[in-house]
Amino acid sequence: MSSAASQSPRVSPLQKLALRGDLLDFVGEPAWGELETSTLRFQPDTWLLIENGRVQGTQVQAPDVAEGWELQDFSGRLILPGFIDTHVHCPQLDVIASYGAELLDWLNTYTFPAECRYADPAVAERGAQRFLDALLAHGTTAAVVFPTVHKVSAEALFEAGAQRGMRLITGKVLMDRNAPAALLDDVASAERDCLDLISRWHGRERLAYAVTPRFAPTSTPEQLAMAGALCRADASLFMQTHVAENREEVRWVAELFPTARSYLDVYERVGLLHPRALLAHGIWLDETDRQALARSGAQISFCPSSNLFLGSGLFDWPALAQAGVKVSLASDVGGGTSLSMQRNLLDAYKVQALAGRRLTAWSGLYAATRGAAEALGLAQEMGHFGVGTLADVCVWDWAQGPVAGARDEVVRGLHERVFAWMCLSDERNLLRSYVSGKIRYSRDEGMKG
Ligand SMILES: [Zn+2]
Repeated sequence: MSSAASQSPRVSPLQKLALRGDLLDFVGEPAWGELETSTLRFQPDTWLLIENGRVQGTQVQAPDVAEGWELQDFSGRLILPGFIDTHVHCPQLDVIASYGAELLDWLNTYTFPAECRYADPAVAERGAQRFLDALLAHGTTAAVVFPTVHKVSAEALFEAGAQRGMRLITGKVLMDRNAPAALLDDVASAERDCLDLISRWHGRERLAYAVTPRFAPTSTPEQLAMAGALCRADASLFMQTHVAENREEVRWVAELFPTARSYLDVYERVGLLHPRALLAHGIWLDETDRQALARSGAQISFCPSSNLFLGSGLFDWPALAQAGVKVSLASDVGGGTSLSMQRNLLDAYKVQALAGRRLTAWSGLYAATRGAAEALGLAQEMGHFGVGTLADVCVWDWAQGPVAGARDEVVRGLHERVFAWMCLSDERNLLRSYVSGKIRYSRDEGMKG
């Protein structure tokens, strides 16, 4: 480096960006079933001000171009915080929409063969890039992700997440039994790989490590104990796994762990339940399990399209909410059939409707934005338009096509409008995704580097 360069390091110019549109976010958690809520912050035809990637405020008047503001006018469009998908599998884009199986068949027939390919670093890298670009093209700007058992698959995701500046939580999958040999690790090598990945990626930029036992059946008690020890040694680590998704799976876990009180208890007794633990599904839980989740602060990722597609069961959201358990929303692709959080919200509504309950657009959208950020302990960073948060923002058409357009014209009131949007929209409504104020997807121009 020349002495001139070291004396005057290049300072990037202050980026001042203002987006105009109908801003919608939450300042708190809406009550179940409540259509009128003070937790909603709707600011129609308002400018969202972003400075150096962070939200600086909102105002009705356009900011002054002479002060360096770049104005992007999306008036008549809906602007939301980017969605947060709290449970999704990168390598399973290749098996999305696979016919005719329940969980255990589906893993053996479709998923495990697809995951074997990720041993190849080139496959893992291409897969990670394609996967994160797909998330951004669906309006999802942050995610908690399963790669495969291969260390390179986690590396590839961290690398691709860093390139895009995304909040990404992931970690090498732990599996040391009951899977094809090509997908098995062992306790010692898995621990080494985790420690190495943690030291190099955890806490770097917006990346965080999640200790990732796939699910109880594919880890020995010794491996689960190792995973619990990693969590106890560093409370800043996340943990992700699956629990009580499918009845056959629950029966199998009871056979494999005969002394455990329940499936959830397998995790609790080794220290895997804590405030940074995310457990996908949680359909077949009992009240003791719900209390254990609430006590530990561990949270559930509700995966409605996956639960319907694989025929796993109907998630009892209110029972968990009443017990004080945090619930966020997840696509669980490839068990789920779409990365679109609106499609998953619509499925969430239908799952609750079958049980005679009604999910408001407010509870659904909250769970997919601020609620997820709160559950992850990251609400100071994302999930809403509070001043100082990183500007993870998506711009949506209120309606696409004649049916949605006609519906949007006759809506009465804001909840009806947003609910119809939630039911009728998908990734085709997305115009722009911004991550920390940078355009990362634009419908007109494809992906932005
Ligand atoms: Zn899953």
